[in-house]
Amino acid sequence: MTNGKHKCPVCKEHVFGRVNSWQECPKCGWVDDIGGYIWDEIDGMSENGISLSKARQIYKEKGTILVSNEEYAELQKAGKVDTYDEEHERRLDEIYDAEGYLDKKLSELMKQWEEEPEEK
Ligand SMILES: [Zn+2]
Repeated sequence: MTNGKHKCPVCKEHVFGRVNSWQECPKCGWVDDIGGYIWDEIDGMSENGISLSKARQIYKEKGTILVSNEEYAELQKAGKVDTYDEEHERRLDEIYDAEGYLDKKLSELMKQWEEEPEEK
């Protein structure tokens, strides 16, 4: 069984001590807010502002997700982060309406965290 410890989903280096700890990863800046794991493709659903998939992209490029407003604007311009437009709203509605989305995401997460090796 999981004790709730899980690796940062962005940098995979820091280990959060429990589920939904609301701690900020000291390595990359990801905030351990459960909303960000569940709504992993949709921006604006957690304390992070950006989605988990966007955070991973930005981390790959910058080595952190804590970018300045200017850098964020650049990423937006390059089409790498969402703008809050109609398409964003449409995707959100689509996911909300999907049957069993929340159950599916939560069981995936629990399984993933149970399988993670114990940190020494
Ligand atoms: Zn991290």
